[in-house]
Amino acid sequence: MRLIIIGPPGAGKGTQAAKIVEKYSIPHISTGDMLRENIKNSTELGIEAQGYMDKGVLVPDHLVIKIVQERITRDDCANGFLLDGFPRTVAQAVSLDAELDKLGIKLDNVINIDVDKDLLVNRAISRRVCNKCGATYNIISNPPKEDNICDNDGEPLYQRSDDTEETVSTRIQVYLDQTSPLIDYYKAQGLLSDIDGTKDITDVTEQIFKALDN
Ligand code: ADP
Ligand code: AMP
Ligand code: ZN
Repeated sequence: MRLIIIGPPGAGKGTQAAKIVEKYSIPHISTGDMLRENIKNSTELGIEAQGYMDKGVLVPDHLVIKIVQERITRDDCANGFLLDGFPRTVAQAVSLDAELDKLGIKLDNVINIDVDKDLLVNRAISRRVCNKCGATYNIISNPPKEDNICDNDGEPLYQRSDDTEETVSTRIQVYLDQTSPLIDYYKAQGLLSDIDGTKDITDVTEQIFKALDN
């Protein structure tokens, strides 16, 4: 299974990605997570990316394209992968297509999670994440069993610095301007599965599994 999950910030990509990679035993490749890891480790890439991410705008294409190219050729991707948060521009999608061509592989599906703009800001500002295992919670719609503690490993949860009302609004606009054209791009390739992301988490997972089983 070679999959992409796309959708606006706060749509539920990371939440659903966790369920999909568990079912299909494929790696979850989140460019956002990879960039945050680079920031944490103060790598050259992290230092360069941070300014863009703090503002809620996209990191330049050539930087993210490079990390994805390297990541999808690792051994654990031999049987597939799920890309989350990449591609985010038409240029990234074109370069991914070229890379997949070179590797002689094809995408199986592009899962498009659709959520109205007015729900997104609230979802993102109430998001909490675990630094250790990457689990995503929501203080309103998907709280951990114990306040602010990860169910999986007992680590304290934290709030992403770009999950403020202002930055999320910028990120939504960036999505509309630069990422949403990918919907038509992948529709034209016959790969798109439209998913109603306004439903509850288990319902959205069911819609995705149904689309992938077909
Ligand atoms: P993305 O990766 O698309 O930015 P996340 O998966 O991190 O989105 O989800 C954003 C927030 O919304 C998280 O706090 C998550 O727990 C919550 N969430 C995800 N899916 C749903 C849903 N279907 N209904 C309500 N809240 C959701
Ligand atoms: P995410 O974790 O997917 O919400 O991404 C957080 C931030 O990382 C985004 O707002 C961008 O600044 C940056 N980012 C993640 N993926 C990409 C990408 N494919 N292209 C450019 N920037 C990205
Ligand atoms: Zn955890």
